[in-house]
Amino acid sequence: MKYEVLCRGDALSGELADRFHRLAGERGLIRSATEPDVVVSIGGDGTLLEAFHMFRPSLGRVAFVGIHTGHLGFFADWKADELEQLVACMADSKPDGETRIVRYPLVSVEIHLQSGDRIAHEALNEVTVRRREGTLVARVDLNEQLFEMFRGDGFCISSPIGSTAYNKSLGGAIIHPTLESIQITEMASINNRVFRTLGSPVILPKHHVCDIVPNPGQPLAITVDHLHFHRDDVVRIRCKVSDGKVSFIRYRPFPFWQRVREGFIQNGKEE
Ligand code: NAD
Repeated sequence: MKYEVLCRGDALSGELADRFHRLAGERGLIRSATEPDVVVSIGGDGTLLEAFHMFRPSLGRVAFVGIHTGHLGFFADWKADELEQLVACMADSKPDGETRIVRYPLVSVEIHLQSGDRIAHEALNEVTVRRREGTLVARVDLNEQLFEMFRGDGFCISSPIGSTAYNKSLGGAIIHPTLESIQITEMASINNRVFRTLGSPVILPKHHVCDIVPNPGQPLAITVDHLHFHRDDVVRIRCKVSDGKVSFIRYRPFPFWQRVREGFIQNGKEE
């Protein structure tokens, strides 16, 4: 098995990465920066987001696993003191063996520019669209039909696995990652007798498309996970469920609802 490590860059993560390479070498794992089968992220959820974007061109081939060096992450669920166990799982797993790969849906985003060019991305967590200053004014089309005229701070378009991140802070629902969908959540929409939006999060299934068409000339701040873009020349932002998925390697079970409980409600078992 070929692997690569991406680490956050702090001292503890760096030490763990060195130890990982040493143990992996002893167990016959081969380091490959260009063609890894498994990418190990050491740090936090942000480190895994970085790893995802770095290896996005190889998503069909690569699986991710995360070790956290701070608090339990949604993506980084191995603890620092379990590093040896993780190396052993990787070394002992056979390509046709019991190792479970889970695949999660992603958000596909196409940013259409005045020039006619398009910027295409995929988000593991979410895409957000805001105006840099002032109120965003935009038309929202669902499946190429006018849905609403929006005035407010902006939108968050999240994947199921991203539904526990920014989306949750905006009051969005938590979606199980087996549901191939995207969720559109408003940020502080203006609703009064003059302006009206739906006001509720909307969940779209695969093959449905959401177009956000900002009124011309608005300076936009767009994020794709931890990546930020400032553009003044956007004519349309199209979001849908991506055709591709991200793979995570699971050497032991950690059901999604247990992850949600441990992340937000209570750590460990009922007392
Ligand atoms: P960061 O350092 O600000 O971390 C944000 C927090 O989000 C961390 O605690 C991280 O563990 C958590 N997180 C990330 N993905 C998660 C997920 N899928 N489920 C539950 N929690 C998750 O920023 P970063 O590390 O660069 O991560 C970028 C992410 O931060 C964005 O994708 C976005 O989801 C999140 N974010 C959240 C808010 C908010 O909740 N108000 C605002 C901005 C960004």
